Amino acid sequence: MKSLRMRRNRELYFLGLPDPPDPGPDEVLVRMKYASICGFDMMMLNGKAAYPKNGVLGHEGSGIIEAVGKRVSPAEFKPGDRVAINPYTFCGQCDACRSNQPNFCINPGGRSDLMTEYISIDAKQAFLLPTEVSLPAGSLIEPLMMAMHAISKARLDWGKNLIILGGGAMGQIILKLARQYPLGKIVVVEPVAAKREMAKRFGADVVLDPSGCNLVTEALLLNGGMGYDAVIEASGSRGSAQTALNIVARGGSVVYFGLYGMDFNLEVNLFNLYWKDATISCVCVPSGYFPSAIAMAGRLRLEEVVTGLFPFSQGIQAFAEKASGVHAKVMLQFDKEG
Ligand SMILES: [Zn+2]
Ligand SMILES: [Zn+2]
Repeated sequence: MKSLRMRRNRELYFLGLPDPPDPGPDEVLVRMKYASICGFDMMMLNGKAAYPKNGVLGHEGSGIIEAVGKRVSPAEFKPGDRVAINPYTFCGQCDACRSNQPNFCINPGGRSDLMTEYISIDAKQAFLLPTEVSLPAGSLIEPLMMAMHAISKARLDWGKNLIILGGGAMGQIILKLARQYPLGKIVVVEPVAAKREMAKRFGADVVLDPSGCNLVTEALLLNGGMGYDAVIEASGSRGSAQTALNIVARGGSVVYFGLYGMDFNLEVNLFNLYWKDATISCVCVPSGYFPSAIAMAGRLRLEEVVTGLFPFSQGIQAFAEKASGVHAKVMLQFDKEG
């Protein structure tokens, strides 16, 4: 079997591996069906994030159970079951874990080798997909879980206005999720026309092209100069991160969802923030949201954010396509049959 990997010089290649391993007693063997490319995979590839052990790639994926370990109850999993994989694990022993806050585990672990044809994984990391959630959507449960965390930090409520900066895969998933709330206006800011069109289809009331305009002025004009109750920065652009602070309303909330690099310092005018009584927050991995993300996925048709679907054998081209910036989500499909 094959695994898509990255060399130390950040070049992609296919590694040949022995036949699928038998699952350990508490594991399930998953035949991967879909794995999607995340912005974080791109950061590793561009040298902006640390080189992963063994050059593995992929933490968003879904597949079919092929075999189950001796101690896994048949009531839990059986061959043929469709599952999404939660790549994150926590130790269960540290103070955070024992205070029901596994997100803050001091000894977290996980799998990020999902761009591999078969993987044996702890049964606790596999989650059955209900019939209304497709396998491609199953590989987007991890990003959906992140989006849910962003929305909870944005403290949305009846009639509030939301602006999403960035219409990439994450901006679109956040939009789909936000549309489940009875909000006032939702504005999406995105320079690529096709992604603005996508945002329109997914329910944005207004889409804005930030190129060639003064975004702060335009965004404020759309909203009577009052600013937005929630600003979710999902573009990962440093300029946009700065803009976000200037368009938040009094009492509002700015959520930084993007990754801006380890050397980026945001300039914050604290008087401005004080006067606005606004809140700034960030979003790190909330692995405890996985089951609720699956529950939500049934009504979101997440597969619609996929703009590039490539056979696994063309994984290297898929990464090049993703780098072009025109896509929302790029996904790899393993075997076509079965
Ligand atoms: Zn991801
Ligand atoms: Zn822990």
